[in-house]
Amino acid sequence: MFQSGFVTIMGRPNVGKSTLINQILGEKVSIVSPKPQTTRNNIVGILNDEDYQIVFLDTPGLLNPKNKLDEYMAKSIEASLDGIDIVVYLLDATKPFLDTDIEKIKSYASSKKLILAVNKIDETNFEKLYPKLDKLNKLENITDIIPISAKTGKNVTELVKSILKILPESVAYYPTDLYTDKSERFLVSEIIREKALWYLQQEIPHGIAIEIEQFEQKDKNIQISAVIVCEKDSHKHIIIGKKGEMLKTIGTSARLEIEKLLDTRVNLNLFVKVKKNWRENPRQITNFGYDDDDI
Ligand code: GDP
Ligand code: MG
Repeated sequence: MFQSGFVTIMGRPNVGKSTLINQILGEKVSIVSPKPQTTRNNIVGILNDEDYQIVFLDTPGLLNPKNKLDEYMAKSIEASLDGIDIVVYLLDATKPFLDTDIEKIKSYASSKKLILAVNKIDETNFEKLYPKLDKLNKLENITDIIPISAKTGKNVTELVKSILKILPESVAYYPTDLYTDKSERFLVSEIIREKALWYLQQEIPHGIAIEIEQFEQKDKNIQISAVIVCEKDSHKHIIIGKKGEMLKTIGTSARLEIEKLLDTRVNLNLFVKVKKNWRENPRQITNFGYDDDDI
C-alpha cells in the first residue's frame, strides 16, 4: 500500500509553521523570520519515503487584509484549502488559545481531517499546558492533539505518524526524488529576502522584494545578481548602510547559505532599487512572482 496526499499547516503568524516545515523536511525551504507574515508563497515541500509521499503546503499567516498584498495572501490561504487532504492546525503553547483559534479549528474540523499540534512546548511546562489542552480535548472530529517543539524537533516524528494514520491511499503525485516544486532561483531569492529582513529588523517593514537578474554557471562558480526592491529612497539608504556595510552583511550571510544550498561556490552581487508603492499595484505583485496562477 502506498499513501500520498496534501497537507497544509495553518495557524496564526509566528506560531512556527515555517520552522515546522523545515524541521520535517530537514532542510531550509521556507523562510523563517522573527517577524510575522513574511511567508508570501505557498511553498510546497515534499516528504518522500518508500511507502508514502506527503506534500506540504505552507500558508501565510491568517490576517485581515490591509492592502493588495494582504488581500493576495488572504486569498491564497483560502485557495490553499482546495484539494487539501489534511489540515495541521498549529497553536502556540506559550500564548492563550483564542476564541478565533477555536472557531477556525471547528470550521476546519467540519470539512477536513484535522490534527492539532501545540508548538513551542520547549518554552512551557506540563502544569501550565495541561489546562489549555483540556480546552482542545472537548472539540470534536480531531484526529490527534500533539504537543511538539518545531524548534527542537520534539514529537515531530509523532506528528508525521499521526498524518500517516489518515493520509489517503494513493499513487505519488510527484516524482519521488523531487524535494520541492520551487526552483533554485526561487529558493535563492527567499534566502536573500530572509537575510535582508533579518538584518533590517527594526528599520524596514515588509516593503521589500527580490528580483534575480542573473543566475549562471561561470567556470566552477555560480554567478548571481539580485536586486533588492524597496519602496522609498530612505529605505534604500538603510539597506545599503554606511559605506555599504549593511548590504555587504546581507550579501555575505546570504551567499554562505546559498553556497550550502547549491553545494558550490557562489559570486553574489546585490543591488538596491526603489519602486514606489509596488505593494499597491497588482501588476507589480504579479511581476514579483505572486501570480494568481500559482494558487
Ligand atoms: P510562522 O509565522 O508560523 O511561519 O512562524 P515561524 O516558523 O517563522 O516562527 C516564528 C518564531 O517562533 C521564530 O522566531 C521561531 O524561531 C520561533 N519558533 C518556532 N517554533 C518554535 C518552538 O518550537 N519553540 C520555540 N521556543 N520557538 C519556536
Ligand atoms: Mg512562516
